[in-house]
Amino acid sequence: MSGTREVVRIAWTPGGDRLLGTCHCGAERTGEDPAEMWDWLFAHPSGHRTKEER
Ligand SMILES: [Zn+2]
Repeated sequence: MSGTREVVRIAWTPGGDRLLGTCHCGAERTGEDPAEMWDWLFAHPSGHRTKEER
């Protein structure tokens, strides 16, 4: 814990063909479309609570 700044990031998964988005709240999501990923990150509370995995 080094602060309350909200940090989100998107990186390629080790496989290399998918993106892994990490929200500042710790939620993660994989996808193929960067725009969609940012959308999800900035929508922060929305969409995090689905039971969808992978
Ligand atoms: Zn979040």
